[in-house]
Amino acid sequence: MTKPDILAMPKVHPLYLQALQAAYTVHSYNPDGDVLAFSALAPRVIGLAAGGESVVPGALLAKLPALKVVSVFGVGYDGIEVQAAIDRQVPVTHTPDVLTDDVADLAIALVLSVARTLPQADQHVRNGRWPAGALPLGRKVSGARMGIVGFGRIGKAIARRAAAFDMSIAYTARSEKPESGFAYYPTAAQLAANVDFLVVITPGGQATRHLINAEVLGALGSKGYLINVARGSVVDESALIEALESGVIAGAALDVFANEPHVPEALWHMPNVVLTPHMASATHQTRQAMADLAFANMQAGTSGQPLLTPVPECRAAWSI
Ligand code: NAP
Repeated sequence: MTKPDILAMPKVHPLYLQALQAAYTVHSYNPDGDVLAFSALAPRVIGLAAGGESVVPGALLAKLPALKVVSVFGVGYDGIEVQAAIDRQVPVTHTPDVLTDDVADLAIALVLSVARTLPQADQHVRNGRWPAGALPLGRKVSGARMGIVGFGRIGKAIARRAAAFDMSIAYTARSEKPESGFAYYPTAAQLAANVDFLVVITPGGQATRHLINAEVLGALGSKGYLINVARGSVVDESALIEALESGVIAGAALDVFANEPHVPEALWHMPNVVLTPHMASATHQTRQAMADLAFANMQAGTSGQPLLTPVPECRAAWSI
């Protein structure tokens, strides 16, 4: 029996692909590939598999008349033109919740790494420099003030962890969450002016582009640290480099960048910066859970069953 055809965007995670290949004939999408072969395939494609960093424009969706679902492996879906999908009656799904713990864990790891200079400490020992002297002192984390930009699933999980470090917690988001009991600031600049560690965990996309700009970094100040686990687009990277070079802020820890996988060389050599390669959800356990959920959404969407985790815009559009 022939398996139904689906299309996979470039760089879809291997665990997700593996699950898909058992149930579907999976075709890899190549934007520069054979146009005639794609035209022959396109009318048969009933599912589109994407990743959190995939770019899926409306023009691609328009070429897939039989498409029933776009299933994203990732909670962020800022590269998917969701309104174009809704206009074509195609729901988009993502993988919220299953990665929340890992991303919150990494945010705290980055806070500790940059404040306690863990990368430098490791190098100090490995490079045999310990006998020659001690490292410069770090910055205490317990009891410090944490500000969280974006207070959704992951932002709240970061707050729970920070509370265990006796940190005071404040946040900004589009709307206040009085039930949290934490201080709310309506803007990122106001929040930054009142914290030691500013952790960014909003979605990407146009609405949050450069939400963290020179003004916010100035407000964070020369003793403040920026931690970004959201999307590279949320931080004005040029303004950040300038702020780090001129001592406007004390340091930064970054998991995400404007032009991944390329990281500005200016950041490579800064001693007050910790850099990780967009790995906040990269554990065996979580990537498997994401693959399972993305696959279950694909199966539900292609077989007309209720979707497990449609994105909020689709839930609102169809009251699902
Ligand atoms: P979520 O539950 O939807 O929370 C998003 C939060 O951001 C909400 O509090 C929301 O405010 C706030 N927000 C949205 N737009 C905003 C704006 N324009 N200004 C200020 N705040 C805004 O999402 P989540 O599950 O916590 O995930 C958040 C993001 O983390 C994802 O979208 C993704 O980009 C990123 N992420 C990164 C990694 C990584 O590997 N580094 C992994 C997973 C996720 P309201 O509550 O008022 O709506």
